[in-house]
Amino acid sequence: MHPTRHYCEDCERFVRVAVSTRCETYPVRGTDIRVRAEVAVCEDCGAVVPDEALDERNLRKAFDVYRGRKNILGPRDIRRIRERYGLSQRGFSRLLGFGDVTIHRYETGAVPDEAHNALIRHVGDAGNMRAWLRDRADDLPDHVVETVTEHLAREEVGEREMLSEVMGDDQFMRRSIRGYAHFSPEKVAEVVRYFAKEISDLWQTKLAKLLWYADFLHYRRHAVSITGLRYAHMPFGPGPDRYDALLQLLQESGHIVKRPKVQYHFEGEIIEPSADVECTDPHLDGEEWETVRTVASELGHLTSQALSDRSHRELAWLETGEGDLIPYSYARDLTLGDD
Ligand SMILES: [Zn+2]
Repeated sequence: MHPTRHYCEDCERFVRVAVSTRCETYPVRGTDIRVRAEVAVCEDCGAVVPDEALDERNLRKAFDVYRGRKNILGPRDIRRIRERYGLSQRGFSRLLGFGDVTIHRYETGAVPDEAHNALIRHVGDAGNMRAWLRDRADDLPDHVVETVTEHLAREEVGEREMLSEVMGDDQFMRRSIRGYAHFSPEKVAEVVRYFAKEISDLWQTKLAKLLWYADFLHYRRHAVSITGLRYAHMPFGPGPDRYDALLQLLQESGHIVKRPKVQYHFEGEIIEPSADVECTDPHLDGEEWETVRTVASELGHLTSQALSDRSHRELAWLETGEGDLIPYSYARDLTLGDD
């Protein structure tokens, strides 16, 4: 570090410093937050000397911890919600009835108070945003209402298109290919979030097979699948048909986050639950949870490779060819579960 910028009061002169770490407590909104802080230490006497850049970094770290603990939105979360509706910082502030610069402050690092945080989170859901506009259209500037309405409409079309991509063109196909359940994106999202929460390093390819095991195990137990997904014979094992489109749908609707990861020479994506999912009523029933838990506890600990190997021993895999849809009738031959 540059020697002239640090003044040591003990040595009474400018000194060289080294950076060292130690636990420090920062008060954030009345809560004491302990973080591993980086401090500048005088190389001559060991005293801590002030360093603005490090202080700022430590404080930001404390804010991050506080946000995580209180489920407070960060600057990027807020920006993402605002941009989703095409609004300027000022426009978004007005929409919510905040002071004109409030959103600007939040997006540049100020921590939202809890009421503001709850409101921003609330309108992050498209349905809530529609209701908000409906109730307040008269009190809001016209251009704000128009912009948001337009973006909501555009988003709806996009969702429908993606949904039909995932659904496929199969209204004429036998319902059996979905295990006699209606396709439910909400249930898929719930199952995926559970796996993502329970299983560390949930690789994308591993998730595909866990979904397959869950739906097929449930079909064997109850003669109906959970999610209504169709499954196909994919190169690394059975997995949801149109899997990429499905993941994109889940990601864009805010249910999951995909994170690239490299391990040894394998490069892939890890699925994580999104931090800002709205609390919604559960869509799975008790029996469905039971099945999902069985799959997580019996297969969740396997590596991607081990799970892939295992799925390659399933009759459903052995008797189908690449790209084929896998009939749910193979559920009775599943190597997992109850016997
Ligand atoms: Zn000193």
